[in-house]
Amino acid sequence: MGYKMLQIKLPTLYQDEDIRKAIRKQVGELDFSFEIEKKSLDARKKNDIHWQVSLVVSSNKLKGGDPIVSEPLPIPFKKRTEKVIVIGSGPAGFFSAHVLQLAGFQVTIIERGSEVEQRTKAIHLLESTGAFSTQNNYAFGEGGAGTFSDGKLTSRSKHISDERRFILSEYVKAGAPEEILYMAHPHVGTDNLKLVVANLRRQFMENGGQFLFNTQLEKISVKGHQVDKIGCNTGELEADHIVLATGHSAYDTYRMLINNGVQFGTKNFAIGHRIEHPQKLINLAQWGKESLPGVKAAEYRLATRTKSDLPVYTFCMCPGGQVVPAAAFEQKSVVNGMSHYHRNGPYSNAGCVVGVHPDDLLGHKGSALEILDWMDQLEERYYRFNNGYVIPTTRAVDYMKKKESKEAGRSSYLLGMQLAPLFNMIPSFVSNALAEGLADFSRKLAGFETGLLMGLESKTSSPIQVAREKDGLCTGFTNLYFVGEGSGYAGGIISSAADGVKCALALSNK
Ligand SMILES: Cc1cc2nc3c(=O)[nH]c(=O)nc-3n(C[C@H](O)[C@H](O)[C@H](O)COP(=O)(O)OP(=O)(O)OC[C@H]3O[C@@H](n4cnc5c(N)ncnc54)[C@H](O)[C@@H]3O)c2cc1C
Repeated sequence: MGYKMLQIKLPTLYQDEDIRKAIRKQVGELDFSFEIEKKSLDARKKNDIHWQVSLVVSSNKLKGGDPIVSEPLPIPFKKRTEKVIVIGSGPAGFFSAHVLQLAGFQVTIIERGSEVEQRTKAIHLLESTGAFSTQNNYAFGEGGAGTFSDGKLTSRSKHISDERRFILSEYVKAGAPEEILYMAHPHVGTDNLKLVVANLRRQFMENGGQFLFNTQLEKISVKGHQVDKIGCNTGELEADHIVLATGHSAYDTYRMLINNGVQFGTKNFAIGHRIEHPQKLINLAQWGKESLPGVKAAEYRLATRTKSDLPVYTFCMCPGGQVVPAAAFEQKSVVNGMSHYHRNGPYSNAGCVVGVHPDDLLGHKGSALEILDWMDQLEERYYRFNNGYVIPTTRAVDYMKKKESKEAGRSSYLLGMQLAPLFNMIPSFVSNALAEGLADFSRKLAGFETGLLMGLESKTSSPIQVAREKDGLCTGFTNLYFVGEGSGYAGGIISSAADGVKCALALSNK
């Protein structure tokens, strides 16, 4: 058996037979099998948009032995009696629990929200009536913030390729589309994520894992350098190791940890708004046409720096998606974006944010607790705007001129919008930077300035970061770990999950 790596070009709409034809052109008439390694859309020339595909073709007639197969993740299994409690069932929590279980630990996941099925009902109620559930919302509940999301599975980190491969293949085994293994911009969508999360939970429980829903970590009891037990709303629990994976929305948990001696510092993050456009406008700008057979919806990613050197960028773009009310707590308002697998909604949205440091917002060198308080007040200001989830909006073209818009038009956001001077609702150095960035983006993407800026986008990443060792162990503790976005060392589904995997491997190898 031998193999050959090939690069082929395919039209946007193609059949399997077109792949075979393209392969035959390069290797001749052989019996062969093939596997797609990578597939990306090349839209650099609008009159020649095509898929660029890397393939491994295997055949008896080719030289070179068997194709190289990636090594599985080295999970050191042994019989162990140690118990681990993982707090939070988002990507970081679930994947650290999963690897720890595969390594032989007895693992319990505790989750403040409910199973994804119950959580789905609470989210529908929120979007249809504005009734907010403190335990089940876009931030909290099974699967974490990653469940009702756009489900982009991209990550810019170069040091997690083994973990990433493992995570994606576990998603596929749990029902995600196989293409996520090779697409340059893999995407699963909320509809798939809900199924995947439920399947992963079932598998974890069938393998002896314990899942405690509606169970919220409220206290840690520290003896020396060790957490000897944890207090939950349902009672006390003990374990040899505790892995925190509570995400970056759980401000109550952060405060409790800080008050119990877990050390946190501040870090760069970003704030701004969401921007929404008709998807057809984005398709036209990126492809030169309103639709392209074989491709779901056009994406964009824009970035610039202002004259005063502040980064302004678009974040978490959701083609064909929906703007959603993503606050974690009552009487707070923030927005985010989600989509379904087919990305066939009429709008696209993205975060449009300015990179900031907490000290710039506070006006002095501040602590972790101070920036949490500041953020709470900002989210509350957006809620108070209308005493509910109706969000303020301004058209980008008007935002750039610091004037209120006269009409808003339509939107995917279900709980209503109201025209407002949005530029006055965040600190002026942020809105000035955003206005400068919007001018740049409008030069780069035709029609960008017609978009609607809406609500507050404040959850791009955590403003605080725990002090921890390389293996995820919180500094000063011998059995307390913190992983994922809440730790301040990861952001996004894949990087948070990979952070959880890395910590679990380190703990398993001790
Ligand atoms: C609407 C939306 C869309 C997004 N889209 C994308 C996307 O397309 N691609 C992408 O890469 N990222 C996306 N993100 C970001 C991504 O979801 C997060 O980066 C990721 O989920 C972080 O994973 P995590 O496990 O660290 O934390 P989380 O996912 O936040 O999970 C934390 C979990 O801990 C639980 N918890 C918190 N406190 C406690 C407590 N005290 N006791 C018990 N349980 C607790 C929570 O209920 C939650 O389930 C999106 C986020 C949102 C909100």
